[in-house]
Amino acid sequence: MRNGNAHLFVPGPTNIPDAVRRAMNVPMQDMRAPDFPELTLPLMADLKKVFKTASASIFIFPGSGTGAWEAAITNTLNAGDKVLMSRFGQFSHLWVDMAQRLGLDVEVIDVEWGEGAPVDAYAAHLERDKHGAIKAVFVTHNETATGVTSDVAGVRRALEAAGHHALLFVDGVSSIASIDFRMDEWGVDLAVTGSQKGLMLPAGLGILAVSAKAMEAHKGSRMPRCYFSFEDMGAASKTGYFPYTPPTQLLLGMRASLDLLFAEGLENVFARHTRLAEGVRRGVHAWGLNLCAAEEKWWSDTVSAILVPADVDARAVIANGYSRYRTSFGTGLSRLAGKVFRIGHLGDLNEVMCLAALASAEMSLSDAGARIESGSGVAAAQEWYRQQVASSPATA
Ligand code: PLP
Repeated sequence: MRNGNAHLFVPGPTNIPDAVRRAMNVPMQDMRAPDFPELTLPLMADLKKVFKTASASIFIFPGSGTGAWEAAITNTLNAGDKVLMSRFGQFSHLWVDMAQRLGLDVEVIDVEWGEGAPVDAYAAHLERDKHGAIKAVFVTHNETATGVTSDVAGVRRALEAAGHHALLFVDGVSSIASIDFRMDEWGVDLAVTGSQKGLMLPAGLGILAVSAKAMEAHKGSRMPRCYFSFEDMGAASKTGYFPYTPPTQLLLGMRASLDLLFAEGLENVFARHTRLAEGVRRGVHAWGLNLCAAEEKWWSDTVSAILVPADVDARAVIANGYSRYRTSFGTGLSRLAGKVFRIGHLGDLNEVMCLAALASAEMSLSDAGARIESGSGVAAAQEWYRQQVASSPATA
């Protein structure tokens, strides 16, 4: 079973396009060279297009999404500040945990895992906060653990309806560059992402887009920070030089990945993710299985968390996929361990790759004891993809 390609269907790191890999496979370069800003400054400008912001400041930190979270908090808030967060999956849980460990006073809204950010509950908390004690509201746009996408614009509306001036922070690690994200239109003050998902790069970059309002809050923020300081890294967006050694290969890869995203067109990228995700979902439903996402409005176009039958251990499905069929599926995290496996369908992906994921999942499920009709999920997805291609031949 070692011939051919291994198949990567975890929801990040995602498959890296050849053009991106080639762009990174170069000799080391001088990060103080006079022409280095010719690489970095356009990246900052182009990332704004991906976040859909005209005016936010962009920060690219060597690190990962978690580092970007930490940079977000420590550069804009103060210990003891009250913040409002909801927890409905492992990543929103971890963000709450970080906020608490960094000394914020976190008002947590707990929601069933499988549901999305509770817009009504946010609204109620904000309404009650007549004196504006809440300094920031946090939303995980796409909860990668449960395959749930939330309504960020709805949370902005809740802020407006309450006349509340809290900052709006969004985790877009598994949405940005794959699912439509509109920083300016949704009034997002601080958005974070990482390099290894929609941006189709290796892990290694934590990226932030920070509104003018959040930059103003930064002036009053006294939390300890050094490596992730906006002061130090802020210079990079003006001079193009980093305050410490940048991962130049990743930046070269980012140039190539942004070029690919723009050549396809961001809206087409989002539409492709919707189309591919829908095929996977049809496959899952044809097996007679359900998604962890409790309602259709929360279905994620980047990852499907699939509930296995009660008498099947999802860990066995994942182990079978890996050892028998060279396929990596995402595991069930924390309380979902054994209950779900996840198919990541984001990044550099097409219809036939999704069919391969479904075919491998069918075998892995059957091997783990699930009563799945071989080919049923694949057939449902094939029908969907064929219809889609027929109605729009250019999509293929
Ligand atoms: N937020 C979400 C929604 C994620 O999916 C992840 C990682 O998968 C993270 C944050 C953490 O990012 P990283 O693993 O890059 O630190």
